[in-house]
Amino acid sequence: MKNRISLSFFRSIWFRTVFLIICVGIIPFLVCVPISLGAYERVSIHTDATNLMAQVISYNNQIVTSGYVTGEENDILDTELKAIAESYNGRILIINSSLKIIRDSFSADIGKTVIWENIIYSMQGESLYYFDKLTNYLIVSVPLTNSEGDIVGVLVINKSMDYLDQNKDVFNSYLMIGAVVILSMTIIIAVLSQIRFSRPMKNLEKSLDAIIRESESVLPEEKSFVELESISSKFNEVIGKLHSIDESRQEFVSNVSHELKTPLTSMKVLADSLNGSEDVPIEMYKEFMLDIGEEIDRETKIINDLLSLVRMDKSGAVLNISAVNINELIEHILKRLKPIAEKSDIEVVYESFRPVVAEVDEVKFTLVVTNLVENAIKYNNEGGWVHISLNSDHQYFYIKVEDNGLGIPEDSVEHIFERFYRADKSHSREIGGTGLGLAITKSSIAMHNGEIKVHSKLGEGSTFDVRIPLNYIEKEVQ
Ligand code: ADP
Repeated sequence: MKNRISLSFFRSIWFRTVFLIICVGIIPFLVCVPISLGAYERVSIHTDATNLMAQVISYNNQIVTSGYVTGEENDILDTELKAIAESYNGRILIINSSLKIIRDSFSADIGKTVIWENIIYSMQGESLYYFDKLTNYLIVSVPLTNSEGDIVGVLVINKSMDYLDQNKDVFNSYLMIGAVVILSMTIIIAVLSQIRFSRPMKNLEKSLDAIIRESESVLPEEKSFVELESISSKFNEVIGKLHSIDESRQEFVSNVSHELKTPLTSMKVLADSLNGSEDVPIEMYKEFMLDIGEEIDRETKIINDLLSLVRMDKSGAVLNISAVNINELIEHILKRLKPIAEKSDIEVVYESFRPVVAEVDEVKFTLVVTNLVENAIKYNNEGGWVHISLNSDHQYFYIKVEDNGLGIPEDSVEHIFERFYRADKSHSREIGGTGLGLAITKSSIAMHNGEIKVHSKLGEGSTFDVRIPLNYIEKEVQ
């Protein structure tokens, strides 16, 4: 448990933001310090080398014309060069064209031959420098030329660069103080900003707790940050949706109870009136029993429709998909429904533009066509007509069910797919409608990733357009 708490601390926004702010404050510092110290060292070496070269060049004429480079004695030059070498805490060597040391401010290596690539390059006219990190010495080699421009020797001058380390130590100590100041400032800024940022989050958490405990029903408006403001308003939307789902569930339950109770009440009234009267003639018994039978049929239809709806509503409801010949299926359904249409002298015409085979759940798709055609017959006039057509393109197949019947009032059109909704309540009940048919139809079409649209005019008729993909593509579960 303790371990989990400590791990969740590292995963908290609090820890991560503080860590990030500290990194942002300190990393540039850690990167810049070595880079600037390196740059300082390079610039100092280059400046010192250039100065040394200029100094040697100023002595060139004196050294060459006096014959000092060929071994002639010159006390003044001796003293001057020694003084220069001492001032740099270094050494001066003069090497002749045979690479022999002619002069040495230490007087230690006179007569020795030196073979070093910088000296060889300088013999060819180049002025060079090299910094020896091990000894901390800067070594500069400059060619000595006579008045004709010929190279007669090379002057090598060493300079101790110990002052660089001393300067770097001073820099480092200043930088350390700077680092401590920056680190403390970033920590203070990070902690303070986190306290400021986490307060509205804590408030949001408290408000959500209040909603869970049901002491509040909406989140208070959050005015701290735009992001939190948008999260709170989204939460309120979700809460609103949950409320409306709950309300529609309650409404559905009360509708179901009401619909199931109505036939039972009728049966009770019929049975009571038979039980309450004496010497009831057998004809009346038969008539009442017929009515009771009708009410039982009605109750059965409501229950069957409810079961179909529940089966489709169940999340994860499975479709039994297979390749179905839609033309044959429609013809089969119409064969079953035509006798009902004939009773009211309604003409049913089916027109198929091409053969269609589609991947559908045969049982659930049958409900779609049956409900639409049944409604077109039910809500029609004596002698009316119902036209059904089937067409397809490369992606979808289309079914149109058109009638010249009663039509739907304009303000009812948007509600007809709701459960238990009936545009004309008394007529619908009279003809045995449950108000669930179109809700079942819509669910089934949605399960097939299809669409349904309706156009209707009261007194003129209705047209239902259905579009379903030919190939069923299972939706990914999120
Ligand atoms: P019901 O079982 O009452 O027919 P439905 O869900 O199938 O329920 O239809 C809902 C309502 O839509 C019906 O009560 C009816 O008023 C209206 N309706 C559906 N189809 C048609 C149609 N073809 N013509 C006129 N009204 C229709």
